[in-house]
Amino acid sequence: MTSEFEIIRKYFTRPAPTALLGIGDDCALLRPRAGAALAVSTDMLLAGRHFFAGTDPGKLGHKALAVNLSDLAAMGADPRWALLAIALPGADEKWIAAFAKGFFRLARRFGTELVGGDTTKGPLAISITAIGEVPPDSALRRDAARAGEDIWLSGTTGEAALALAHLEGRVKLGSAARKACLARLHTPEPRVALGRRLRGLARCAIDVSDGLLADLEHVLRASGVGAQLRWDELPRARAIASCPDRILARDCLLAGGDDYELLFTAARSRRARIEALGRKLRIPLARIGATVAGEPEIDLRDARGETVSARRTGFDHFA
Ligand code: ADP
Ligand code: MG
Repeated sequence: MTSEFEIIRKYFTRPAPTALLGIGDDCALLRPRAGAALAVSTDMLLAGRHFFAGTDPGKLGHKALAVNLSDLAAMGADPRWALLAIALPGADEKWIAAFAKGFFRLARRFGTELVGGDTTKGPLAISITAIGEVPPDSALRRDAARAGEDIWLSGTTGEAALALAHLEGRVKLGSAARKACLARLHTPEPRVALGRRLRGLARCAIDVSDGLLADLEHVLRASGVGAQLRWDELPRARAIASCPDRILARDCLLAGGDDYELLFTAARSRRARIEALGRKLRIPLARIGATVAGEPEIDLRDARGETVSARRTGFDHFA
């Protein structure tokens, strides 16, 4: 039987060259760069609630870290370190090895060092804390939007939720759509490069994890402004545009969640620079509306001026 300490040593202990002290002591010791603020975020993933118990462990390792890196990206922070707390039902070494592989592959790509954590036996649960750095004055806070700014969205929303609908038997997708949607659900790509390049360019950002409208509402509430969105300007992935169930496609697009795209606001004077940034990073950036003075509400209309709304399907644990 493999012990807790063997698991930590074999599967989770990797060099952490930029930490003063990594895994193995009571605490890690970290030194941020002079003048940088630490951006710190935790997300928890529970089997049966956030993912199916039989989910591929490599993809789970990727996603558990990706959702945390996405939070750093939404703050404009550079990822530096991570802590991993994990409850495992048993010492299934094949499972743990695959999980660690998925985790470290993504960690390496984004220069993130695992510097500590906790390992215990219990129902499968994963909690990662990501630590990044950001110049304090250019962090992309949710409460910084002002009226009269453009609202931008990276990539597309809705495919992850459409994948979930597919897995739950609520829709039947063709093979290309299924593949694209499942990739969005299982291996989201955190928009780290975009987030850091938006420092000083965008005013305010949030990552779309609970659904486009719900996350925009978080920004509006925090900033005390309203928003006008143009239905026809919302970017649509092929799987969403061609989905036979139009109501489901609309709800996924507006309220699905698990997208990990960046929603941000910026002054109109920044348009050309933001468009150039999107081309440079090869990330589609769509201008989907504008902030307006008034109540923190979203006015979403189609080309004929008709209001569009969605059933709120985004994730609220206590709803
Ligand atoms: P403590 O008794 O001080 O909590 P542990 O015995 O739990 O220490 O952990 C030993 C070392 O291994 C610590 O440095 C801890 O941060 C690290 N560690 C434990 N589990 C993990 C994990 N899943 N991933 C990374 N580091 C871990
Ligand atoms: Mg411990």
